[in-house]
Amino acid sequence: MMKILSQRAALLKPSATLAISAKEKELRSQGVDVVGFGAGEPDFPTPAWIREAAKKSLDRGETFYTPVGGSLDLKKAVCRRFVEDYGLEYQPGEIVVSCGAKHSLYNIFQATIDQGDEVLVFAPYWVSYPEMIALSGGSPIIVPTREEDGFVPDPAVVESLITSRTTAMLLNSPSNPSGVSYPQDVLVKLAELADKHDLLVISDEIYDKLLYDNHSFTPFATLPGAKNRTVTVNGVSKTYAMTGLRIGYLACPRPELVKAATDIQSQSTSNPSNPAQAAAVEALNGPQDGVLQMRDIFERRRNLMMDEIAKIPGLRATRPDGAFYVFLNISQFVGKGGIADSTGFAQYLLDRYAVAAVPGGPFGSEDHIRLSFATSEECILKGMDRIRKACAELG
Ligand code: PMP
Ligand code: GLU
Repeated sequence: MMKILSQRAALLKPSATLAISAKEKELRSQGVDVVGFGAGEPDFPTPAWIREAAKKSLDRGETFYTPVGGSLDLKKAVCRRFVEDYGLEYQPGEIVVSCGAKHSLYNIFQATIDQGDEVLVFAPYWVSYPEMIALSGGSPIIVPTREEDGFVPDPAVVESLITSRTTAMLLNSPSNPSGVSYPQDVLVKLAELADKHDLLVISDEIYDKLLYDNHSFTPFATLPGAKNRTVTVNGVSKTYAMTGLRIGYLACPRPELVKAATDIQSQSTSNPSNPAQAAAVEALNGPQDGVLQMRDIFERRRNLMMDEIAKIPGLRATRPDGAFYVFLNISQFVGKGGIADSTGFAQYLLDRYAVAAVPGGPFGSEDHIRLSFATSEECILKGMDRIRKACAELG
């Protein structure tokens, strides 16, 4: 029989988050009044001056290749944000721009992981991490956390999972899907562990600007001794509401890693879209007050969603410190009404109540579903009312 698929393609699971978003859009196009809690993207329009920058770039004829790892202007704009926001000094030669932060992560895994290498991944985790690590031949080692601890990892548990094959630690604080932001003392302990065991740290800081209450953001690279072993990943998708323009980046003071990520990109996608880079330059260099306004709106929506959850018997959730997701505990309802797991619950919500949510399984928990509050207050109220009815029906 003709061999078509590689083993790694055959084993790969497609992105559950993108699948739900697609399903949501499809139902809406069929006229179904679906409440979308699936989307992992801001619902605000991309700011006008950012769109304008992309148009002007096209009109200037910037429809050709740029340097593989991004234009110098964009690398400088990235460095500027690091220094102005966090006092972190990077040189343009320490930045690689890619087609979204997801692509930056993909390049990093391809550049650093050998067959059998172990990478620590903290649960609950973003759906793409284990798959991307496995695609590069590595083994994701899941570090369990406890919901009672607000999903904050215990450094002693982390250390107990480190073996001679562990090469890297992958962090995402604030986290998708739980919204937890790791406290400073835990981050310091993780930095000490990385130092003690000589691990590379990949810090996905895509939600750094979306922190609520009095939380402030600590870039991992600013922790004592951490910068030289840290690859910071970020992008413009979430902060400036421009997910579809596909610009993300990494920053790392290790020339060999920067070169390897660029070389991998040179043999796969080449440079990210030229006009999208121009738009990202404007986003990073332009006024930043819109980011705060968006953050404030997200915070109000989080409060609203948490208030509504508190009113529904049987449901509970850890209050997210950041990002725009609530990781809702639905364990009371598993086993009822033929619902076997988180996928069953999400399917039940979609089929009977037209509420789209992402099952927790692909994030590492069958006791949860993920609700995105990147949607209007009206939709939050409508969707939570439907969830209340769904739970009441299940009893
Ligand atoms: N990391 C996390 C934790 C995310 O939630 C996302 C969501 N898209 C990304 C990375 C990638 O974002 P993008 O590729 O749009 O920059
Ligand atoms: N990161 C977002 C999410 O978790 C967008 C979709 C994706 O890239 O996975 O929903």
